[in-house]
Amino acid sequence: MSKPSNPTEIARETLKQLMTRRVQPTPDHYEAIYHEIARTPEAERLHPGLRQIVEALAAMPNQTPEKQRQVEALRQVAAAEDWPALPTMLFNCIESQSQKMVLARSWSDLIRDLIRQWDLRNPAYPANRKKDALEKVLINFGTDPAILNEKMASLVRAWAETGTENTVGGASSTAETSSTESSPSPSATPPGNTGWTEWRNALVQALQLGIEARLAHNPELQEEAASLANETTRVENESNLQALMVRLRKFWLRLELQNDQEMRLCDGLLSLLRLMTDNMAEVVIEDEWVQGQIAVVKQIMAQPLDMRLIYDAEAGLKEVLFKQGQLKHNLMEAQTVLKDMIATFIDRLGSLSNSTDQYHSKITVYADKIQKANDLPSISHVLENLLQDTRSMQLDVQRSRDELLEARSRADESQQRISELETELRTVSEKVREDQLTGALNRRGLEETFEIESARASRSKLPFALALLDIDNFKKLNDSRGHAAGDQALIHLVQVIKDMLRPTDTVARYGGEEFALLLPDTDINKAVSVVQRLQRELTKRFFLHNNEKVLITFSAGVTLVAHSEPHTEVLSRADQAMYQAKRLGKNRVEILLSDGSNSL
Ligand code: GH3
Ligand code: MG
Ligand code: MG
Repeated sequence: MSKPSNPTEIARETLKQLMTRRVQPTPDHYEAIYHEIARTPEAERLHPGLRQIVEALAAMPNQTPEKQRQVEALRQVAAAEDWPALPTMLFNCIESQSQKMVLARSWSDLIRDLIRQWDLRNPAYPANRKKDALEKVLINFGTDPAILNEKMASLVRAWAETGTENTVGGASSTAETSSTESSPSPSATPPGNTGWTEWRNALVQALQLGIEARLAHNPELQEEAASLANETTRVENESNLQALMVRLRKFWLRLELQNDQEMRLCDGLLSLLRLMTDNMAEVVIEDEWVQGQIAVVKQIMAQPLDMRLIYDAEAGLKEVLFKQGQLKHNLMEAQTVLKDMIATFIDRLGSLSNSTDQYHSKITVYADKIQKANDLPSISHVLENLLQDTRSMQLDVQRSRDELLEARSRADESQQRISELETELRTVSEKVREDQLTGALNRRGLEETFEIESARASRSKLPFALALLDIDNFKKLNDSRGHAAGDQALIHLVQVIKDMLRPTDTVARYGGEEFALLLPDTDINKAVSVVQRLQRELTKRFFLHNNEKVLITFSAGVTLVAHSEPHTEVLSRADQAMYQAKRLGKNRVEILLSDGSNSL
């Protein structure tokens, strides 16, 4: 059948078909056959009102596969003219649209949660796994904000569901979590049963033999392990068990933190040892220097291990190594000059004795000839030769004498230079005031400058402030980007500090990633604003690593130096204020003055 194009023709054909098929001539039947003959596309057969509704729903913003599925289902129900099902489908469709809108999280909440979960320790999602997962979501769904929101929200949810509650480096909030979360292990049979007794004994043994015995270096934790084992033996009922579980949880967390600390200590020690070995190779020229280096490490080993001591030793050794490397090079050069002189001397001595030997044998030959000569011309010929040889011999001796004299004076000069260098080398480790990596003053430089400025402040009666800065999460930076990047970050920070400070201010490296600022003629208000200005500057001048911008932040403690107060006290007060800044969330400045006040 050819397709009729004219509506009148279609209408006529429709009526004909109604008759032929013997169907009742209702409007619905008429419409169905009309479309069949006109071959109207499926989508256009809907009632115009209904069609508008479906199209409006399909055009709603933030379409997701689920929403599209609902609209398609509605379209099909309408096309099949399944009118009783239509209201339900329409309702489903509208509900799915609005439900998604409610479910979509506000971006600010989502990002806040993401950052929080990012920083939380999570054994199931270590930092690199989190990074991979986030990258995948960003690559796959970054172009569609609605789906991105949904995927990121489920990622954050997954992290939250698997994570533990303690943040890296901070033991806060663990106590509450332990007590609210605590529930007996599902495998723990209630007290009073044989299985239970066995379980309890196993726990006691694990605590005593497995844990306590291995904590000899940490008496506090060792004591806690012993006391927990003791408490376990006394557990008789459900409430004892609950209390034990709370204590156990806290103990595991402390143990984990302790392990973390120990790993860091080991890393520090290893790099210190590596440095020592390098240093030994550099300074084998004289035993005394090697002894000096060993003495430093011995001194450290004699005290309880502490990160700051290790970093100090490392920084000290680096400086000495650098200076000694330089001096050794000069010393080698001077020694080479001396050796050359001696070689010339021996050479000349040899040729001198050669020529005198030759002269001797010639004289013998001439004496012999004179004895045998029996006429005057031959005697005078021999004498002439003899005279000539004597003259050249004289010249030889003269030249050698001059050369020897010159060689000797150059050798004397070298000897003098060598002894100067040796003296310098011996005293160099005491004289170094600068940190070789960053160019800030080192501890010794800090102490010297402190004494000078403190005396000046006492004389002038002007305020003298000191700030202690500690880079935030520096270990993380080292771990994720490598130690060399960490070194570059330290250099960058010192450069920014030097650019921002006045010429009369001083920056010194106090420890690994800690710096002290000495601010003469500065009251506490001004000192705080100097440090805050520095913090702002760091948000503008990023540290660049592999062309990526890395934000470095620090926490700071600021204090004023009281009249003739020892530097150790001032630094310890600034240190307390700095730790307070860490506790209150990092990247901030706190004050602590000698009278105990801590606000402006
Ligand atoms: P917080 O915010 O609490 O200060 O954490 P943090 O990671 O900065 O502090 P922590 O004391 O745990 O770690 C300090 C790190 O500094 C550990 C060590 O690897 C690093 N560090 C110390 N000296 C140097 C150095 O000379 N170069 C490099 N690259 N890293 C250093
Ligand atoms: Mg530190
Ligand atoms: Mg730090």
